[in-house]
Amino acid sequence: MRSKILAFLEKIQDQLTRNHEQVKRKGHAKLVLKKGQHPLQLSQIPRNVQKVVNALQKAGYEAYVVGGCIRDLLIGKQPKDFDVCTSATPEQVRRVFRNSRFIGRRFKIVHVVFDGEIIEVTTFRSSADADVRRRNSERVSSESGMLVRDNVYGRNLEEDAQRRDFTINALYYDLRSGELIDFHGGLHDLSLGIIDAIGDAEVRYHEDPVRMIRALRFCAKLGFKLAERTAEPIGRLAASLREVSNARMYDEINKMFLTGHGLQSYRILRRYHLLEILFPALREFLDNEVYHSFVEYALSSSDMRYTQNKRNMPHFLFAVMLWARFQKEFYALQRLNDSLTVSLSLRDLAARACTRIVREQNPVTAIPLGTVESIRSMWTLQLMLLEIDNEQLVRQIAEQHLFRGAFDIFRLRAQFEPYLKPYAQFWEPYYARSAESARRQQEMRNLREQTRDLPKRSRTELEGQFFSSESAAERQDRLEKARAWRAAMNLAP
Ligand code: ATP
Ligand code: MG
Repeated sequence: MRSKILAFLEKIQDQLTRNHEQVKRKGHAKLVLKKGQHPLQLSQIPRNVQKVVNALQKAGYEAYVVGGCIRDLLIGKQPKDFDVCTSATPEQVRRVFRNSRFIGRRFKIVHVVFDGEIIEVTTFRSSADADVRRRNSERVSSESGMLVRDNVYGRNLEEDAQRRDFTINALYYDLRSGELIDFHGGLHDLSLGIIDAIGDAEVRYHEDPVRMIRALRFCAKLGFKLAERTAEPIGRLAASLREVSNARMYDEINKMFLTGHGLQSYRILRRYHLLEILFPALREFLDNEVYHSFVEYALSSSDMRYTQNKRNMPHFLFAVMLWARFQKEFYALQRLNDSLTVSLSLRDLAARACTRIVREQNPVTAIPLGTVESIRSMWTLQLMLLEIDNEQLVRQIAEQHLFRGAFDIFRLRAQFEPYLKPYAQFWEPYYARSAESARRQQEMRNLREQTRDLPKRSRTELEGQFFSSESAAERQDRLEKARAWRAAMNLAP
């Protein structure tokens, strides 16, 4: 599939180069490839998306499939979602589809819902320099030029294209005629693997700083390069990301890290010095190669999970990214605690450390409360997984619902903190059992059977004195390795 697409782009390379020259000269230049001149097929568009486009057209409006889905189809990737744009206003779209609802404040959009599948329908946007300011005042900027509301509607496709972020994201597919429409040299950039802003990159980042993150995300996701002019302002404008709402940033960070390209995202954020803006608490670890290796290792493991169709959860991501910070905070509190007469429990100390770190992180990313709870449990479990001598506790730990998630992190840590290896080995069979039991429960749920009948866990061969054979010298060695790790991380002794 991919080679067929590349072959098509190669065949029209001259045409694309000419079109790109025109775009550079005039700012835009329309290129239309008729049905058969490009490899897109109607059958690649899901039925519900076709239904939405057809219904809008039947009601007398223009409607196109647009954005990332067309970009992804053209390079042989499975689109994450499909977007439709139309000349109908959101209110008109609502009237066409009873199964729809308004969402968004910054951009008012309509979600058309079919059995859990959501198709996003946006009304044509208008270009910033059009005469729309006179038409109404629905575009509102903050002092820095950032658009806080942008509900000015465009008159046509051309204006809509100008409001989109990158050239490769402004390709339109007309399902009725089969035409593929490009106004900004998007096909040219797609053929060369380039992410380039539509219009002046600096102005576009001022309007919406999240575009900087999106630019880097597409580089990571598609393996593309940023055009020089689109890369250049990022260093200067990175601080403006602090103005973006923390709820939006939380979503963007999850998109960057949880959908199969976390490792590449991390590397590129680091290269552009954005990590310290997205995770301010990490500033003190940025020169620490051990820290980077651990995070990279964890992210490559969640990228792998994604390719195996396993879910990646935000609490895992934040627990990993901020783990070093947690350790530091925890040990500091523990030292303080040791000097008090009434000392706090390990759980309480972990909770306090977690609260502080979340408070630091919250102005950037609004982590939902449920996720904070899970992060706290994952961190507390890191400490509890060292408690392997108490049988009753061991049983309780292995039965916690976040045990497997926490152990995933623990196992990753063991690669970098060698003293953890024997502990990891101890828990491994519990993990296997827990995973097997979850798999069976899922199977049972799928079959709508009662989970009550699940076989009870047997712990027989798992228990016993795991460290009973450890000599004093081995124990000393284990503790020294633990200290060495803490020193490497600039943590407490
Ligand atoms: P993916 O779905 O793979 O994350 P996408 O490009 O489809 O990538 P969406 O967030 O689904 O991203 O947005 C759909 C389209 O809306 C984009 O392709 C782009 O044309 C436009 N768009 C999204 N966010 C912005 C933005 N911040 N500024 C301008 N245009 C945007
Ligand atoms: Mg999309």
